[in-house]
Amino acid sequence: MEPDTATQILISLLAALLGACVGSFLNVVAWRLPRRESIVLPASHCPRCGVTLAWQQNLPVLGWLLLRGRCGRCRGPISPRYPLVELLCAGLWVAVLQASPTAMASSPGWLQIGAGWLLVSWLLPLVLIDCDHLWLPEPLCRWGLLLGLAVTLAAGLSQSGEVARALIFNHLLAAVLGLLAFEGLSALAERLMGRPALGLGDAKLTALLGAWLGLTGLGLAVALAVFSGAAVGSAGRLSGRLGPAEPFPFGPFLALGGVAVWLVGESWWLQQWSRWGAGL
Ligand SMILES: [Zn+2]
Repeated sequence: MEPDTATQILISLLAALLGACVGSFLNVVAWRLPRRESIVLPASHCPRCGVTLAWQQNLPVLGWLLLRGRCGRCRGPISPRYPLVELLCAGLWVAVLQASPTAMASSPGWLQIGAGWLLVSWLLPLVLIDCDHLWLPEPLCRWGLLLGLAVTLAAGLSQSGEVARALIFNHLLAAVLGLLAFEGLSALAERLMGRPALGLGDAKLTALLGAWLGLTGLGLAVALAVFSGAAVGSAGRLSGRLGPAEPFPFGPFLALGGVAVWLVGESWWLQQWSRWGAGL
């Protein structure tokens, strides 16, 4: 039975609201984790004057609009990144409702949606921290990898023992191969160019994605990351916004590839891939 349109809209609104609240929390994680501050305490405060935000100023997106992007006490600017991340998270949470993750094709809908929400919410702070600090915190990658294996295990429970074992082996192998391939590439590039081309964090993030996506999904995600990263990187260097040897974070492109594969499913990307190959 198809849920009627009103129910669908209500569910999407609820997902957007929850996603915005989670995005608000992820903003805090991305700011405090690299500074080794507690993620729960103290309450949100202005980083300039330290004034604690009132509850209505803490509301995702609305709080920033109410304050018109400035601290109520010291009038210091509050980055528009905060409401933008909240909007992005809300959008991703709605998109996950319609996602068709290949690795979980035969899992119940609630498990697919829960897993998708967890994945996008785990990747978002990694992306923000990589953009700010060119660093992918190891514990976040490690726990994200273990969560991916746990989700794969849960997806296997609804299948026969044989299929479940193949699924888990596939995802475990993708995590290990992802880690080894990226560490190997990084070591090779360092010997050829005399400087590290990829951070070690990129290898760990690749392993995380492997645990969630499996071998085919990881291959597609890495291909998307390499193409989009190369396009943005060369545009940055040609326009002079990026110095010739200036490093830029690769984590956001890996995360983008991973989310794109999760949301749209492998078969669609494989189709595009073969169409593009036939056109050459
Ligand atoms: Zn202030």
